[in-house]
Amino acid sequence: MIKKVSGDKHALAEAYAKQHPLSQENPGKVRGFYNEDSGKITIHGSGLKAHPLRRSQYPNGWELDHDVTPAQAQKDMANNFKELRQKYADAGAFGDKKPLKLKWLKAPTDMVRSVYGCESHRCKNVTVTPDYHQNNGTPVCDCDRDMVFLRVEIATNF
Ligand SMILES: [Zn+2]
Repeated sequence: MIKKVSGDKHALAEAYAKQHPLSQENPGKVRGFYNEDSGKITIHGSGLKAHPLRRSQYPNGWELDHDVTPAQAQKDMANNFKELRQKYADAGAFGDKKPLKLKWLKAPTDMVRSVYGCESHRCKNVTVTPDYHQNNGTPVCDCDRDMVFLRVEIATNF
């Protein structure tokens, strides 16, 4: 079978748009097209979340219209947009911010509780104190199944 080169480029354009980090941040909104006249791939999207690097220039709802050569597109895809992702990460975009430096505070035991759920997912969750497990082992549900840890909760007045 002889593949049409332009057909491959259209597929490349679509794949490029799909794999582009802006597309992943705006699912289903970025499309790729191959322009046979210019020989370039255009990715287009509108109503996007603010541009990760130029928020003031391109706030929420901006329109993306970006050209790239097929060769560049293939290169970007081969390294999974490494340079671009690094730029976005450096700018703290897309939740790639460095984690906050946190410290630990002692909390009164009665202000923290663990929530367990039944493996059947039909019974009611229970809450136990943080030291419950040490003293009693894994909580057992009324239906006799072992329960599974779901989360901890802390008491607050807000
Ligand atoms: Zn149960």
